[in-house]
Amino acid sequence: MKSKDTFSKKDILQAVELKQFEVYYQPIINKEKNTILSGEALVRWNHPKLGLLHPNSFITTAEKTGSIIQLGYFVLRESCIQSKKWKDEGYAFFKVTVNLSLVQLIDRGFSKKVAHVLAESGLDPHDLELEITESMALDDPESTRKTLLELKELGVRIIIDDFGAGFANLSHLRQFPVDGLKIDGQFIQESLKSERDTKIMHSIILLARALDIDIVAEGVETEEQLALLKKMECQVVQGFYFTHALPGKEYKEWCNYFVNNPALRV
Ligand code: C2E
Ligand code: CA
Ligand code: CA
Repeated sequence: MKSKDTFSKKDILQAVELKQFEVYYQPIINKEKNTILSGEALVRWNHPKLGLLHPNSFITTAEKTGSIIQLGYFVLRESCIQSKKWKDEGYAFFKVTVNLSLVQLIDRGFSKKVAHVLAESGLDPHDLELEITESMALDDPESTRKTLLELKELGVRIIIDDFGAGFANLSHLRQFPVDGLKIDGQFIQESLKSERDTKIMHSIILLARALDIDIVAEGVETEEQLALLKKMECQVVQGFYFTHALPGKEYKEWCNYFVNNPALRV
């Protein structure tokens, strides 16, 4: 049998065609108000032979081979349609946050594709947030900036993912029109062990506040981490402490439970 990380472009494109990919959602929570701000769309592959696959076993291949363009489009379309459905059903937790690869962002006409998906799904652009996950160095910051401005003009929010890790750095804040930052989970996980990491995390929170942009802390796993974030006045959080990413139907049930049981809220 083929090993998990040796997929080809054809394997991924075929799986998109065969609808083997499924969008899971993880809530982004405002802990101060106990509300769900959005659901982050995280793709899974229901592989007929290998079972449920997480993105770390296929996203890199998808990016390298360019098939992330089709896969990413599927995730965007699917999650916008789902979000509009939840909105129409009257749920307050309907908003959606979609991960975007730079490969998609530098694809010509990307903002037109987003506009098309929004028109097709009927979702209000303000209900969609795009997280830029930068796994490689940026070749052409000017054209990326132009595309991001087009997306902002549509009304979509732009978030820098994994801030403080890899290529997600300060220069993006200077160059790009961003609405928020997501602090990399590693800082949160290390913050109770290392004073240095705590200080870096606190500085990122203060930086976001000074720039008047939103901040989300991801990868929150424990009560202690949550308490530390509260002390730093970072109350928008996401992580296993609340729940793993869930399939649409279970996500809806989880959110309903969270919203309707104030006394039981984690
Ligand atoms: P990410 O965007 O940084 O997403 C967060 C990852 O951390 C997710 O892994 C999530 O399940 C996991 N996570 C959530 N809470 C916790 C926690 O408390 N502790 C720990 N240790 N992990 C937590 P997942 O779903 O396996 O996704 C991995 C990465 O794959 C994502 O990282 C994102 O970069 C990428 N990805 C996922 N879906 C898509 C997609 O549709 N398009 C693109 N371009 N990338 C995607
Ligand atoms: Ca993300
Ligand atoms: Ca992240």
